[in-house]
Amino acid sequence: MTEKKNENIELLPEIPQGTANPSSIDRRSFLIRNAVIGAAAVMTGRAWTPEARAEQAAKEAAAPKLGATLSPDLDVVKRSKGPVMTVVEEFYKVGPGPSSSHTIGPMRITYDFYQRCMKLPADQLAKATGLKVHLFGSLSATGKGHGTERAALAGLLGKEPATVDPLFLDEMRAKPEQTYEVKLGEKNFTLSLADIIYDSAKGDFPHPNTMTCKLMGDSKPIYELEYYSPGGGFYEWKGYTPPKKGDPKYPYATMKELRAHAEKNNLSIAEVIMANELSVSGKSEEQINAFLDKIANAMLATVKTGLSFKDDVLPGPIKLHSKASTVWERAQDDKYESDRAIALISACALAASEENARGHLVITAPTGGSAGVMPALVYGLMESKRKVPMEKIRQGLLAGAAIGYLCKHNATLSGAEGGCQSEIGVASAMSAALLAQVMGASALVIENAAESALEHHLGMTCDPVAGYVQVPCIERCAFGAVKAWVAAMIATNEIGSRHRVDLDTTITTLAQTGKDMSTRYKETSEAGLAANLVLC
Ligand code: SF4
Repeated sequence: MTEKKNENIELLPEIPQGTANPSSIDRRSFLIRNAVIGAAAVMTGRAWTPEARAEQAAKEAAAPKLGATLSPDLDVVKRSKGPVMTVVEEFYKVGPGPSSSHTIGPMRITYDFYQRCMKLPADQLAKATGLKVHLFGSLSATGKGHGTERAALAGLLGKEPATVDPLFLDEMRAKPEQTYEVKLGEKNFTLSLADIIYDSAKGDFPHPNTMTCKLMGDSKPIYELEYYSPGGGFYEWKGYTPPKKGDPKYPYATMKELRAHAEKNNLSIAEVIMANELSVSGKSEEQINAFLDKIANAMLATVKTGLSFKDDVLPGPIKLHSKASTVWERAQDDKYESDRAIALISACALAASEENARGHLVITAPTGGSAGVMPALVYGLMESKRKVPMEKIRQGLLAGAAIGYLCKHNATLSGAEGGCQSEIGVASAMSAALLAQVMGASALVIENAAESALEHHLGMTCDPVAGYVQVPCIERCAFGAVKAWVAAMIATNEIGSRHRVDLDTTITTLAQTGKDMSTRYKETSEAGLAANLVLC
């Protein structure tokens, strides 16, 4: 025992007197780095001299950090103050995979910038010679694996995420040198992937997913705008003010408040959300239902298309074989119905997630990385023996959206901000709420189902291998779907009032855990599986 202690002391020399941190470096960071190096020394057996350890700690403390803090000026931060104002049309988005924040968001951003440029005065446009996009932070660190440059270029070419032909993006991948004509006013010029620049990954950005779009006049920008892609396909820009909306009929900022509205007015969660959709968006119930039907049908289509691919190899350096159709076909022979059910729901999630990895159209529920979770449940409910009608699925989508809204409002939906708990964890919680709502559960049971699913994803890191949304993301969607089912089964069978943890507490924990998580585990591909898996 004594020997062991001495060994550790040798590995962990005291910081020598007088080798305090240099004045330019924050002392706390210096001490933390010093402690971390010491801990690593114990695990790896590497011995440090006190001076070398202090020097290394100073170097690491001084290194610029990936921008994981959020500017208080961002609307996504300010909006967490009042009641939830998000509506389904903002929340469920159809667009190309693999990532809502790194693909759909950037494509919506450059499409927006293209539209703004079109509206510039003719004399300003006459000076234009080209367009450039600079990607920063996590967009720069992992954008290559997410196809960010193709999505950003497609937006500049006037393509919208919901209607772009995925084959157009596939062709961009196949022919990276290709140039494209773009017309702005009277000017024509050519653009290529070289106009999308992977700029600094580290720095003090307002959001980890920051990008700048520039209209160039020779070598100088004549018009530029800084944008942010905070997840779920949402975007905003420097100086953004949100569009005017109506007041929610049932204002809430927490699950406790939402449930109180439902219980006081004898309404289901879906009915409360529908009432708010009407008052906030100003749309009719028919319009909202038509949108929900479009989303449910798109979810069915993404699973069906995914299952139709037989053992193809997904794009990227991992050379990952798809397996959804294999799992689906083999599961048909499973002897026990319970085994078959778990395998089939997993196959559906794998199918939609593999579609995401192919860069095909997916639905953010809440993000691209997690786009296999909810479609698996929708497919399982509608296309199985249950044949759940569309009307019930609409209610489920509304209840699921409520959970997603709350997580967005009080935590985050972005893996770059909160790790994978914010993507797959939230998707699983939304899906558990969907299933409980479809089963006609009370507001309390829906809350319990969502809470349970989210609780058992807390702490999950985001470490996509090689920056591609494949490993661990695809299988993670299957686990998220199965956990959603487990959560709904526990919640609908337990005594609801005895459920000990409320959803608001778990969402607060999600937010705090996300803040505490090292940036290395937040979609930077610097740690975890991304660092340890050797690609041959
Ligand atoms: S690990 Fe999770 S959060 Fe990260 S990219 Fe994959 S699905 Fe998204």
